[in-house]
This record gives sequence, C-alpha cells and structure tokens, in this order.
Amino acid sequence: MSLLVVGSVAFDAIESPYGKVDRAVGGAATYFAVAASFFTPVNLVGIVGDDFTSKDVAIFKGRSIDIEGLEHAEGKTFFWAGKYSQNLNERVTLATELNVFAGFKPKLPDKYKKSQFVFLANIAPELQRDVLHQVKVRPKVAALDTMNYWISGSNGELRETLKHVDILMINDSETRELSNEHNLLRAAKHIFKMGPSTLIVKRGEYGAMMVDKRGVFCVPAFPLEEPHDPTGAGDSFAGGFMGYLASVGKKNDLALRRAMVYGSVLGSFTVEKFGLDRLRSLKHKEIHARARHFAKLTQFKL
Ligand code: AMP
Repeated sequence: MSLLVVGSVAFDAIESPYGKVDRAVGGAATYFAVAASFFTPVNLVGIVGDDFTSKDVAIFKGRSIDIEGLEHAEGKTFFWAGKYSQNLNERVTLATELNVFAGFKPKLPDKYKKSQFVFLANIAPELQRDVLHQVKVRPKVAALDTMNYWISGSNGELRETLKHVDILMINDSETRELSNEHNLLRAAKHIFKMGPSTLIVKRGEYGAMMVDKRGVFCVPAFPLEEPHDPTGAGDSFAGGFMGYLASVGKKNDLALRRAMVYGSVLGSFTVEKFGLDRLRSLKHKEIHARARHFAKLTQFKL
C-alpha cells in the first residue's frame, strides 16, 4: 500500500571515533525512504537546494522511491553536522543550517494524496498537520516523529497535530519531556490522551519499546561488535517499521510486532557504516536473515 514520507533531505557532516565525512547525503526523509523502499514503494516530499546534484539524487534511483514531491529550490540544501563520543552514545550537534529548509512548505503531488500510510518525520508540527490535511482520505496509519526543539518551543502546535496521529515514534528523553513523566509506561498513558493510540520509544542501544492498549512489546537493539555511525538509525527504524506495515497493509498486533523487528533490523544495518553507505549495498536476503536472527535472540522456553 502507498507510503508517504515528509521530512528533511540533507547534507550531513559526521564525525565518530571510526572516521569522518564532510558532505554525505542524509536527512530523516532520506534514511526513512531508503529503508522503507526495501518493503514497499515510497512517495517522498522534501526540499533540496541547487547544490543537490544528479549524483546526490542517485540515492533514490533504482529503488521504489517516487521523488516527484522533492522540490528543488534556489539556495543551499539543509546542512547538519554532528560529532559522536567515544562510545557512540552521546552526540553533539555542531551545526544546523536550515538553508532552503527554512522556507519548506510541503506540497503533495495529487497522486500522493490518497496515501494510506503516512510518516511525518521531524519538521515543524504545523507543517506536519498541513500534510495530513492535504491527504484526502484518512490514512490507515499516520505516524509522527518530533524532537525536543518542537516539544519545548511549539508545544501547543504539536499537541494539536498529535490529535490526528495514530503512532508517535520518539526517543526516551523526548517521551519524558512531552509527558512530564519519567516512567515510560505512565508517560504512554499521558500520550494516549493526546491522540496517538500507540507509542514507540526508540532507545538506541537498548532497543525499542511499543506500548498500546494491549500492552507492551520490546525488541533489543541488534548486538553489533563494530557500530560506526548511529546517524539516521531512528529514521531507518521508522522506515523499516512503516515500510513493513504498508507492505502487509495491516495494523493488527502481529503486524505491529513484526514491524518493530524490521524497524530494528534496518536501524542496525544503518549504524554498521557511515551515513547511508550500508543501506546502499543492503540486500533483501540480508534483511530476512537478520530478522530470523532477532527471533533467535529473543526466543526461550518456559
Ligand atoms: P537521527 O540520527 O535519527 O537524529 O537523524 C539524523 C538525520 O536527521 C540527519 O541526517 C540530519 O540531516 C537530520 N536532522 C538533523 N537535525 C534536523 C532538524 N532539526 N530537522 C530535520 N532534520 C534534521
């Protein structure tokens, strides 16, 4: 089924103990789209500047990613720079240059307006809401990511947008800040009152947790000996999750649990190399082999 993503397409400068890149194609919508396209066709809405060349666009080519919704504007592409600590658990943002992203007004091509699965990556909550308004039929699943910047700076707008969203997919510090609650289960109860019926908490090397009215489901992060760069892991998780759900066209408990595993699979591949390098060479059979590995990791008898 049709899957729409709206969010950043960027150039990233990344530094980790394993190396450094100065200008790699990145952005939340990019990681999401590439990860999701292993499961289902993706429609992408974003904006880039005139420095985004045909070589850069090539990341979307040869995959099931429609980029009619990728606007090319005059100016520079959104630029983000970050540096990771020795254990990769902490990250400092060194630069955020919005450039053409500052004037981003998402406009859905007509053929995207019937999307049944929608992912609103981390952008201003009023823009996320506007995208939902442009979708003509209420999507089967609308999911949203956000960040502390919007939780503290645009709380009212974010709450208004959350009323129209089924799944909120954020990290643990964002969950705590949004709900004013340290305990994640109690935080989920607060968040359900805001609109979403499912909360997915991305917890980096501790995996991911899904809470809904049926209960809690957790997946570990895949144990890797040599992670290189966590950039985009959360967006790749979201891509694997939503891509799988859209591919089966369902949102029952089994589908959601499997989606959690496919999200973790895609996130784990992303951190193996810098930027999008690992996803570029990823094969379907590797995805399925790792999903089976996840099943083994968590299997036990009572
Ligand atoms: P993550 O590692 O999941 O936080 O995602 C990293 C990606 O998000 C990078 O490729 C950045 O280009 C992008 N990014 C960083 N800051 C922002 C922002 N303020 N708004 C949108 N995208 C961002």
